[in-house]
Amino acid sequence: MKHSSFFFLRLSVYFVLVAVSLSCSHKAVQSSSEITASQSDTAFERIEKSEAEWKKLLSEEEFHITRQKGTERSFTGEYWDHKAEGIYHCRCCDLALFESGTKFKSGTGWPSFYAPVLHANVGEVADYTHGMKRVEVICNRCDAHLGHVFNDGPKPTGLRYCINSASLQFHDKEEK
Ligand SMILES: [Zn+2]
Repeated sequence: MKHSSFFFLRLSVYFVLVAVSLSCSHKAVQSSSEITASQSDTAFERIEKSEAEWKKLLSEEEFHITRQKGTERSFTGEYWDHKAEGIYHCRCCDLALFESGTKFKSGTGWPSFYAPVLHANVGEVADYTHGMKRVEVICNRCDAHLGHVFNDGPKPTGLRYCINSASLQFHDKEEK
């Protein structure tokens, strides 16, 4: 009898130890995933609005291009030939997207840049519409359609961000 009760005592101690170590490892997993989540957080809060809300804030053309993935006719937009120094922001949510120093003359009739201000601000999405394989670029804060990125740009990146003027709003260098 004595022997078997000792055995059960040992067994229960063993289960307590297992339970404690399981709960510890569970906690460890939880805290490491919390760290990962906070590290992957971007520097800005995402902006989400309904179609009706965007329609109130944008012109008909801006809404069509930014929220419905439209394209303005080349050589018609506000910025294809715009040369002032400053930052081009998202027309929808005002996030800084492209800097005038990276703008170049592409001859396409759309504002063209070889790099975004921050890669975190401009997202890339595979686009198979119109029988082509292209890479769509979007604002990472509000998902506005901006244009496409191609691999035939100038140095130093070799990229050509082909962007609709209607997706942008320019802020002069002096503006804050
Ligand atoms: Zn935006």
